[in-house]
Amino acid sequence: MKSLDDLEVAGRTVLVRSDFNVPLADGPDGTRIITDDGRIRASLQTILDLRSAGAKVVVIAHLGRPKGEPKAELSLAPVAVRLGELLGIPVALGADITGSQAQALVAAMNPSDVVLLENIRFDARETSKDPQARAALATELASLADLYVSDGFGVVHREQASVTDIAQLLPSAAGRLVHKEASVFARLLADPARPYVVILGGSKVSDKLGVIGNLIGRVDRLLIGGGMAFTFLAAQGYPVGDSLLEADQIETVKGFIEQARASGVALLTPVDIVIADSFSADAATQVVDSDSIPDGWRGLDIGPRTAALFAEQIADAATVVWNGPMGVFEMAPFAAGTRSVAQALADSGGMTVVGGGDSAAAIRLLGLNEADFGHISTGGGASLEFLEGKTLPGIAILEEH
Ligand code: ADP
Ligand code: MG
Repeated sequence: MKSLDDLEVAGRTVLVRSDFNVPLADGPDGTRIITDDGRIRASLQTILDLRSAGAKVVVIAHLGRPKGEPKAELSLAPVAVRLGELLGIPVALGADITGSQAQALVAAMNPSDVVLLENIRFDARETSKDPQARAALATELASLADLYVSDGFGVVHREQASVTDIAQLLPSAAGRLVHKEASVFARLLADPARPYVVILGGSKVSDKLGVIGNLIGRVDRLLIGGGMAFTFLAAQGYPVGDSLLEADQIETVKGFIEQARASGVALLTPVDIVIADSFSADAATQVVDSDSIPDGWRGLDIGPRTAALFAEQIADAATVVWNGPMGVFEMAPFAAGTRSVAQALADSGGMTVVGGGDSAAAIRLLGLNEADFGHISTGGGASLEFLEGKTLPGIAILEEH
């Protein structure tokens, strides 16, 4: 895969696809405020390196789901301001994406200037299933620049105009972030140091089923917590009360349990559970064995014995991948399991990788030090597809060219 260093960028206009899909909240007077600028910071290195090499940098990004039409509340205006603060220069925002205003802004650029195009998803062609529609948008984008740099790891698993189609039209390379993320995941797939332990949690089993299927042949231990654990408990014939359950996945999960047994992979599910009588921070709670969740109660965290067991399984691992919180960590009474697992990773002497937006958010919310983790991925979906062994279109296209 080509990197920035393989491109001759001085004096040339470079389109950079970044992932600036940051969380926003309402501020005073109808303004929007960025509540976590982590994704913008993660994208800075590429822009900084291009600027110092004398490129004119035109950044493409998306925000939220505007469904193909302009929406004022999903304008990238607050991102342009924050990016400008972080770079220490003004960053002009195009009033449109490839229209006359963006063209004029780009035409007026000097080397090392940075322009941000408006939310690419304001144009329905960006995510269109019709390759010709995507190609038309990609052609308009390409006419703005000489080179393309793919640096939005959060979107490389998508076939989209500004991710894949554009890379066929301009000389292309991976930016610093995509390069780093892709090498971490390639290493996990090719040659992980052992023992190799994966901890999965979070809320949606169906999202992560493909990953589980692929991991069983590769890992030494698979630890299951979070909302998805209850489908595993149900598959073992245990009652789960009002806990999250994907009943239509029970048969598939039974297959995984069988497959793990047959291939000698340790598949661990919780031995105890923190249950609550409602989904609320002030619910009544108790800890029960995982085969004894009473009717009317729901499991909202792994119990303390499970947390200790999982931490022990992580302690001597040489490679640890964690995706998905162990409980509803956003509420203090159900955060202990996630905290234990996160702390076990932070204490690990092995290579540690965190995937999943909520897992990364949990690390920050629980006050752990991000520097104690080997790699915190910026792409939840993309990191899962890597673990699943899939070919990611946005990576494949860079490798082809
Ligand atoms: P990630 O973004 O890290 O991949 P997911 O999006 O799959 O993680 O899941 C995160 C969500 O799962 C969190 O909001 C958390 O509250 C929720 N969750 C974890 N455990 C449970 C549970 N036992 N019941 C309900 N929700 C849960
Ligand atoms: Mg999530």
